[in-house]
Amino acid sequence: MTTTIPATLIPGDGIGPEITEAVVQILDAVQAPFAWDRQYGGLAGIDHGGEPMPQATLDSIRRTKLALKGPLTTPVGGGFRSVNVRLRETFGLYANVRPAKTLTGGGRYEDIDIVLIRENLEGLYVAFEHFIAVGDDPEAVAISQGVNTKAECRRIVRYAFDYALANGRKKVTVVHKANVLKALTGIFLTAGKEIAKEYEGRVAMDDRIVDACAMQLVMKPEQFDVIVTTNLFGDILSDQIAGLVGGLGMAPGANIGPDVAIFEAVHGSAPDIAGKGIANPLALLLASCLMLEHVGEGQKAKAVRDAVDAVLNTDKIKTGDLGGSASTKDFAAAIIKRL
Ligand code: NAD
Repeated sequence: MTTTIPATLIPGDGIGPEITEAVVQILDAVQAPFAWDRQYGGLAGIDHGGEPMPQATLDSIRRTKLALKGPLTTPVGGGFRSVNVRLRETFGLYANVRPAKTLTGGGRYEDIDIVLIRENLEGLYVAFEHFIAVGDDPEAVAISQGVNTKAECRRIVRYAFDYALANGRKKVTVVHKANVLKALTGIFLTAGKEIAKEYEGRVAMDDRIVDACAMQLVMKPEQFDVIVTTNLFGDILSDQIAGLVGGLGMAPGANIGPDVAIFEAVHGSAPDIAGKGIANPLALLLASCLMLEHVGEGQKAKAVRDAVDAVLNTDKIKTGDLGGSASTKDFAAAIIKRL
């Protein structure tokens, strides 16, 4: 008998509830071990208690240490801080893991299989910003300070090497801009070189300057395996890499901390198609596969991925964003049939 693992489920808002329902059905069909504690977040959180990230939801995550999160709308102009940033800070989710793999034709390249690991807490995202007045212009000069600590650089690089070892990967590429930002990103490159020595003979290491990396990802993406980089570069490169395999609609992400892990689709709440039953549940489904692997249920993750492969490439059933005409429900039913 499978052990039951308590996990927080945040369907979110917009297309969140539709795609979450499809994913939960598929996970039930594969007998995933999760016992869901359903909680509100985003606009649904505001409707049920006034907060985009209600205390009850945070308490649930603190209890289960594991969450699957649908997209959450960040209300514009209401003074809300990004819920995603708040979750990262609250639970110290220092590693953002974004795997991108070619699943079906339609992307620009075949056979892409890259995992980008982004530092999630430091860098320019600390947003220590201010303006300086010159003459009668109060905002004549903008200043932003980034923060990278040696301890955090070493922790994220080590995470990347351990990830490579655990997942049978051969190389970690450290991406930086140490030629110009000699302190802020030089400290990251130095950490990369130091930590790499501990893995010599097991995982190879090389490094790239971020601009050259962006070009090489387009020219010759097959040279990359695992990439580890600082917060802002990771934000940009991970979307670029998602574009190589067909866009954000298929991109899953994991936010990992020392105690808590939160899995999500990379895309947002897609208000333009919410409630129409046509959203693609794949990104959230692939995020749930990462979650299965996280709890040691790699076989079940593989079963889901194989079913996805059969549905996309043999049955040729796809949602509208991938050029098909299947509804969210039809697509989920086709996957369940293939399990
Ligand atoms: P979006 O990702 O929601 O949508 C961009 C485009 O992609 C839209 O045309 C949408 O219809 C389409 N799309 C997205 N997901 C899809 C899916 N699963 N199937 C089919 N089509 C899909 O980005 P946006 O419109 O910039 O953002 C909308 C809201 O989502 C904003 O409030 C934003 O802050 C929020 N957001 C949340 C997260 C998150 O919770 N992780 C991430 C990004 C954006």
